[in-house]
Formats: sequence, structure tokens, C-alpha cells
Amino acid sequence: MTAAISLKPRLFVEAPLGPGQALELPPASAHYLGQVLRSPLGASLALFNGRDGEWAAVIVAQARRTCRVETRELLRPQAPEPGPSLLFAPLKRTRQELLVEKAVELGVQALQPVRLRRGVVERVNPERMRAIAIEAAEQCGRLTLPALADLRALADCLPAPAGPVLYVGDETGGGQALLAAFAAHGPGDLLVGPEGGFDPAELELLRRSPKVVPVDLGPRILRAETAAIAALAAWQLTFAAAG
Ligand code: SAH
Repeated sequence: MTAAISLKPRLFVEAPLGPGQALELPPASAHYLGQVLRSPLGASLALFNGRDGEWAAVIVAQARRTCRVETRELLRPQAPEPGPSLLFAPLKRTRQELLVEKAVELGVQALQPVRLRRGVVERVNPERMRAIAIEAAEQCGRLTLPALADLRALADCLPAPAGPVLYVGDETGGGQALLAAFAAHGPGDLLVGPEGGFDPAELELLRRSPKVVPVDLGPRILRAETAAIAALAAWQLTFAAAG
């Protein structure tokens, strides 16, 4: 699999994509093309919507706040993009934004915020998360956006008995080395604790769950977002790398 980024700019749209399809770009994209990039009439771009592959398109009409484009040929057909779900406690704003951007680049399939006792932030901003996810997907050449789930309680996020395992970053050092755990249990989802770490009752709940595999990410205590990024990078290199 090559990360082919053939045409720039590359924009996410909601509309269906197919041959000879005319569409009005959303105002933010129209502004970006017209006012920021100053793309002229006839300029090329690439479009994807998470369902219909990536299409070459050209600008066919443009005004100050609007931009009409028309698709030309299919650049890349839609293809599976394997990745784990990432379960995480909401973080402070800049760390949260970094986490979302990097997780999208590193192929996360779904982002699931989880309420954990020692978390310092109580909510997420779904619109902001989505905007960052779209920008990261446009930039990195993904054909899909990850699913962005609502905040849930830990008890509602435990792995299903018949589903994939849930690797849980255990900063106490009690877990299996991540790569050894991957080799033993295959592709699964990832859970990283909050800034304050897991509370003992949460660790107990997790350890009692049959599909949970506590993992060790190395000899240092990582920030939550670093732990998530490291685990996602390892996941991609283990399960989704070319060859
Ligand atoms: N405040 C805690 C650290 C929390 S780190 C303390 O000082 O002990 C935030 C989360 O990142 C942890 O809950 C864990 O899921 C993950 N993490 C950080 N370092 C890790 C490591 N070396 N191995 C596994 N998980 C780690």
C-alpha cells in the first residue's frame, strides 16, 4: 500500500462522488480554495467522502463565498483502512487536539472518549474534534474519517466477549510488553488512562474483564497523549504496514 497523495488540495466532502458529478463545496472549503489558496477557475483538486474513493475534480464556477466543482476521474478506489479504536479520557484542549490529529494520521478507526475518575477534563467538543479529524484526514491521504463517539462510562466500553481484545496501557509496569502482546493476541483496540492514571477500582474492573490485555509501553511514564500515539504507531507498524 502506498500513501499516494497525487493532487493538492485534497478536501473532504459529505456529498456522494462519482463520474462527472457537480457539487457545491461547503462554505469553509470554498473560502479555503478561493481566498486562502487563491485557486483559479479550472484548478484541480482531489475529493473524498469516506465512501466513494478519491476523485480528481476541477473548479467550474467560483464567487466570493461559493465554489462549484466537477469530478473527473477516480484517483483511488475506496479500500479498507485497518486501524484500532482508541479509547481515551478527555484531555486539556491542546493535548486533546494533538491526540486527535495524530490518531487520525496513525490510522485510528474510531475515537471513543471514556469517563475516568482521575481525568481532569469532563467533556469533549465533538465539533472541534470533527474539524481536526477532517483536516488531518485531508492532509495525510486517508480515504475515511474515524468514527467519533460520544463520551461513555468505562463500564460501557469493556470489550465484548466475542470481539477483539482491548489493550490497556498500564503505567504500573504490570502489563505485557506491547509488541509481545500484539504477537500473542492480534489486532485489538487500545485504551489509555487519564493524566492521573487509572484509579484502582478501574484497573480492577479492567483486569476482571476477559478480553482485556494490560500492556507496558516502556520504562518511563508517558503523558496520556504520548502513550496513545506510541501505541497507535506500534499498531500500524505491526498490523497495517506494507509488505
Ligand atoms: N499520573 C500517572 C501517569 C498516568 S500516564 C502516574 O504518575 O502514575 C497516562 C496513561 O498513559 C496511563 O494511565 C497509561 O494508560 C498510559 N501510560 C503512560 N506510560 C505508560 C507506560 N510506560 N506503559 C503503559 N502505559 C502507559
